[in-house]
Amino acid sequence: IYKVELKNVGMKYLTREGETEAIRDLNLTIKENEFISIVGPSGCGKSTILSLISGLIKATSGEIYIDGELVSGINSKVGYMLQEDYLYEWRTIYKNAILGLEVQNKLTPENCAKTRELLQKYGLKGFEDYYPNQLSGGMRQRAALIRTLAIDPEILLLDEPFSALDYQTKLSMEDEMYLILREQKKTVILVTHDIAEAISVSNRVVILTKRPASIKRIVEIDFEDP
Ligand code: ADP
Ligand code: ADP
Repeated sequence: IYKVELKNVGMKYLTREGETEAIRDLNLTIKENEFISIVGPSGCGKSTILSLISGLIKATSGEIYIDGELVSGINSKVGYMLQEDYLYEWRTIYKNAILGLEVQNKLTPENCAKTRELLQKYGLKGFEDYYPNQLSGGMRQRAALIRTLAIDPEILLLDEPFSALDYQTKLSMEDEMYLILREQKKTVILVTHDIAEAISVSNRVVILTKRPASIKRIVEIDFEDP
């Protein structure tokens, strides 16, 4: 039984201009605790794959399974960090970080303490009471990531989580992320157009064709834990 399974998945968007076929006949299986990256040209359908797995949108053909169960809507096992941070400007960083816990009714003292630890780990110590517009793009992105991690999802969907970071911060974040995620034993699906990033953090890299996305190649990465 796979953690995530996509079976003959197809996705067509209907717009005023007509139909856009984003994904065609995609088959992919992801095991528990795997860290997989999805790379491909811009606009090929990467974000669509994450939206489909998250249950936010429904495939026009095929099926998606999580732990063998058909995905039919949003699932509390899944944490999804979108490309834009969607922080609430009127809430402090801490209040933003605990938002997912609030929504899921998991606002225990223990979970709040864990969230504060995550803020420390990701360099936001001392910024808990700041508002998002007082922070840099990179810090905002980290806050959004913490909000996703705070709910302790089994499956983490990350859409270009490091794209707003400067190069040095990006490299150290990648190393740190990798270690943290390994410790926490999560199944991670990362979308990126940075092949170096994909190779440096994941077990497997799925390379997509240009739109409509289907699998061009899957590269297994031989990993030695640092
Ligand atoms: P990126 O290539 O940086 O991953 P996006 O995933 O945001 O960018 O978008 C990829 C393409 O999809 C872009 O050409 C964008 O204009 C288009 N797109 C994204 N969202 C929508 C939407 N809601 N309706 C129509 N087109 C969209
Ligand atoms: P990527 O993440 O690889 O950049 P996307 O999944 O964002 O690609 O987009 C794939 C294709 O689907 C693009 O052509 C984009 O314009 C189209 N698309 C994405 N979202 C929407 C949407 N909500 N409505 C219509 N078309 C969309």
